[in-house]
Amino acid sequence: MNLIENANLVREQVETARNKANRQDPVNIIAVTKYVDVETAEALVKTGIQHIAENRVDKFLEKYQALKDYDLTWHLIGSLQRRKVKDVINLVDYFHALDSVKLAQEIQKRAEHPIKCFLQVNISGEESKHGFSVDELDTVLADIAQLDKIKIVGLMTMAPFEASQEELQDIFSKTHQLQKQLEKKQLKNMPFSELSMGMSRDFEVAIENGATYVRIGSSFFK
Ligand SMILES: *Cc1c(COP(=O)(O)O)cnc(C)c1O
Repeated sequence: MNLIENANLVREQVETARNKANRQDPVNIIAVTKYVDVETAEALVKTGIQHIAENRVDKFLEKYQALKDYDLTWHLIGSLQRRKVKDVINLVDYFHALDSVKLAQEIQKRAEHPIKCFLQVNISGEESKHGFSVDELDTVLADIAQLDKIKIVGLMTMAPFEASQEELQDIFSKTHQLQKQLEKKQLKNMPFSELSMGMSRDFEVAIENGATYVRIGSSFFK
């Protein structure tokens, strides 16, 4: 495993996809460190990584304690159990997996400041996937609008593992369209300006479809 080479390659591929899509706005690379120990995560940070993500609360806290003196932005990306919200939410810069109103209410109760959240949407309608369906969004947004500690910065989605190129294209472009519609509404506390989508296997398609945050793990650590 050569972290410097891998990190350079990821940056190059992100830049190429950005140019291909004629994007002027930045694409933020989030390094998902769930596969590696603190030492490896630290070595990756030293290659110039600024955004770190974990998908489990215990792992998040471990990395955070060890690396909190670096100037990093901290992302929690996995589904979050309500009983664990209090342990972690005030340390998180961005929470990517807001997938129920009950979870939003728990965050409201525990947060000491407004928390930047991505609303997770399930565009493919796949039963096994977390996230709100498009049909329920109006009701959900009306409920979340009551919660002043929840700031919805954008949408997050995950494509099914076995999705073809066409399906990826379809899911990511639909998510992008939805994000743009919601952004136009200029809802209070809900700028909806960001789009969290794309992992190692599909970040290029995601960037071509407007992703502003890509969550990349295995490409750094192979
Ligand atoms: C693990 C994980 C990623 C990164 O996946 P890779 O395929 O390793 O790049 C991105 N998002 C979420 C929610 C994850 O759990």
